[in-house]
Amino acid sequence: MRLPYFLARRFVAGESFQEALPVIRALNNKGLSVTLDLLGEHVTKQKVAETSRDAYIRLVRIIAEERARRAMQAGISIKLSMIGQKIDEDYCLKNLRILLAAAKECNVFIRLDMEGSDATASTISLFEETFPEYPDHVGIVLQAYLKRTERDVERMCSLKAQVRLCKGAYKEPSEIAWQNMDIIREHFMTCAQELIAHGRYPGIATHDDRLISATKIFVANRGIDRDRFEFQMLYGIRPQTQEQIVNEGYGMRVYVPFGTQWAPYFARRLRERKENVWFVLRNLVRT
Ligand SMILES: Cc1cc2nc3c(=O)[nH]c(=O)nc-3n(C[C@H](O)[C@H](O)[C@H](O)COP(=O)(O)OP(=O)(O)OC[C@H]3O[C@@H](n4cnc5c(N)ncnc54)[C@H](O)[C@@H]3O)c2cc1C
Repeated sequence: MRLPYFLARRFVAGESFQEALPVIRALNNKGLSVTLDLLGEHVTKQKVAETSRDAYIRLVRIIAEERARRAMQAGISIKLSMIGQKIDEDYCLKNLRILLAAAKECNVFIRLDMEGSDATASTISLFEETFPEYPDHVGIVLQAYLKRTERDVERMCSLKAQVRLCKGAYKEPSEIAWQNMDIIREHFMTCAQELIAHGRYPGIATHDDRLISATKIFVANRGIDRDRFEFQMLYGIRPQTQEQIVNEGYGMRVYVPFGTQWAPYFARRLRERKENVWFVLRNLVRT
């Protein structure tokens, strides 16, 4: 059974790019950059993976055209499982290279989202395969809840790769992932400080006031320029805080998902915060 889209519209900007466009323009007009996520994941058929890759290439070209016309500030986020990671890693690499060639030609940045821990090593390896050829057009995500991440942060700093740091959105076992929120926050800040001090323009992706304040204090104490990093948040979550952070003079990028395959993304947003479930239920009762 397919859920009706109106349930997800707080978190998903539209079921098509055209529907998402007013949201993107409104965010850009307020000084917020965006990263566009054409929703989809866990593709198991080559035909679907290639259709997804081509849809992303079209999106890259649209962003370049919009940027030329209206100064659109947008990059792209993609889950590698959408372009064949679950089918075969070499096949996925081939699709990724085709996408990155278009991204470089159009000067659009592609961020590889990080999925569950069964994909971590593969995502990092595919990233490292392509990074030397596309150092300015591909970036990666690291998840602070994974016990391996501090080592990955060091490695990405030495490569001068662009990293988005987030807590992590998947349910992972205690052998490989911290479970306690205070411990996750501690590791998040260790990684954030390393990335800001020694990395290349990291994205500090969180809605958590404690982490946002700690980041601001860290850069102020170290005299680090605000343009050495950016904050990132998800569309529909704390929009006033997003604007406030821009008004304080920090960079803020909003992750804007769109497309018809919104159900798994929507489920992750509901799982991570019970208030999000209440919000959807209230809307359901009102309609
Ligand atoms: C831009 C971006 C990209 C991401 N990409 C990935 C990815 O590639 N892979 C991945 O696994 N995960 C990704 N995530 C999700 C991330 O891992 C977390 O699951 C998600 O961000 C929730 O963690 P949090 O730190 O934002 O805050 P939470 O742990 O959800 O909340 C912590 C605190 O923040 C405050 N807060 C949060 N939401 C609200 C609200 N609506 N109103 C008021 N206060 C609030 C509250 O004080 C709350 O206690 C991404 C997140 C962002 C922002």
